[in-house]
Amino acid sequence: MEPLLTAYRLKALLHQYNHPLCSVSGGSDSDLLIHLCESARGDRPVFYMFFDTGIEYQATHNHLDELEAWYGIKIHRLRAETPVPAGCKKYGQPFLSKRVSENIERLQAHGFRWENAPFDVLMARYPNCKKALRWWCNEWGEGSSFNISANKLLKEFMIENPPRFAISAKCCDGAKKATGKAGDKVFCPDLKITGERRAESGARATAIHDCGYEDVRRRTANIYRPLFFWTDEEKALYKRRHRIGYSDAYEVYGLTRTGCAGCPFGSKFENELDVIRQYEPRLYGAVNAIFGDSYQYRRRYNEYKGLGRTPRKESS
Ligand code: SF4
Repeated sequence: MEPLLTAYRLKALLHQYNHPLCSVSGGSDSDLLIHLCESARGDRPVFYMFFDTGIEYQATHNHLDELEAWYGIKIHRLRAETPVPAGCKKYGQPFLSKRVSENIERLQAHGFRWENAPFDVLMARYPNCKKALRWWCNEWGEGSSFNISANKLLKEFMIENPPRFAISAKCCDGAKKATGKAGDKVFCPDLKITGERRAESGARATAIHDCGYEDVRRRTANIYRPLFFWTDEEKALYKRRHRIGYSDAYEVYGLTRTGCAGCPFGSKFENELDVIRQYEPRLYGAVNAIFGDSYQYRRRYNEYKGLGRTPRKESS
């Protein structure tokens, strides 16, 4: 039902806007997005844009060529303002999750010594670092996902094994946010069509209008997420019905997501590394050069968690 409604909505919207821009990632959601746009647009124009983070699968680049040939479209490829390799060198490597990386980065910026002491004591020692210290001291309230305790034994691990490399999530800003803004300047869209799905957008999903359409008047363009309510089953059905082929990253490598290859976020990074080593050996060397410290630190943390050591008592 949802795919049918989506096609009607999209057709109506494409007739209301003059400069619709469709974000293409080369992933499975964006494959469906292109099919929907090409089916709905008639003689209306749609501008397709791909943001190259600088650490993409070769399978993704190949697939963009295939999509262009298959649909007879042009996918404009925009290089990241700060590609991921440069961003990691400049700011630090991502570790575990965006939230964890941001808090560690703030603490590192204040010369934090990874010590276990009450919040007030640490606030006196490290003023102007309140937010990250609240994370470190579990001050966001019992059971909050903003606390470091949301990651089992992470605090204990970091006290015993302070990070010896810079950690940061800022590569996302330079590779994605800033590039998105640059794309807006190039094309000046009045409607942005993205492949975001509620099933995968976490907390942000609650902030989005209930039809997947956001009329954001502060911005220059409104946003439509045609796949927002699609389930995995509806995706699979649409793919089968329209005989859509995903990139080799899915069809051959067996991945379930693409985007930045080897990103250290997420629990399955080891599986992804195995796949990269097998199918894209040159990329394997690159991701290890970019994220190697983070992988090593994560492996040590995983091992530590597995050992389940007893947390230390606080000392002032
Ligand atoms: S997805 Fe991962 S590697 Fe890519 S920009 Fe964001 S943090 Fe960096």
